[in-house]
Amino acid sequence: MYQEIILDHYRHPIGRITLEDFDSEVHHVNPTCGDEITLRVKIDDGVVSAIGHQGQGCSISQASASVMTELLEGQPLQRALEIEAEFLTLMQSKGEGKPNEDLLEDAVAFSGVSKYPARVKCALLAWMAFKDAALQAVAQTVEEQ
Ligand code: ZN
Repeated sequence: MYQEIILDHYRHPIGRITLEDFDSEVHHVNPTCGDEITLRVKIDDGVVSAIGHQGQGCSISQASASVMTELLEGQPLQRALEIEAEFLTLMQSKGEGKPNEDLLEDAVAFSGVSKYPARVKCALLAWMAFKDAALQAVAQTVEEQ
């Protein structure tokens, strides 16, 4: 069933768009697998109002970007970063983690991936890119004020 969630997001990715209106853009690569992502984020009044990503790579990296967008878009930034931290903890659990389904929803599908160190980077790519972009967006807003 977890496999199906991943395949479904791979085939029908959420947020695979180029945002025209955004606060920050980052480009992250995972050289071990060859995954790439360019991610743009828009933050309005402390809320993640839009996420758009483009990239290429393995099914895990692409599906993870889709799941991440579905989960984090529309969330208050604080909450989005909480979910990101929870996903990071799960991915670093080496297959021992107990996923918090209330927080992670479809992202629990990646819990099995945490057993495979080489794949963990694939699953985390989009999430790390989001965090980077979101923090840059916030830093910019502070400068403008
Ligand atoms: Zn990969």
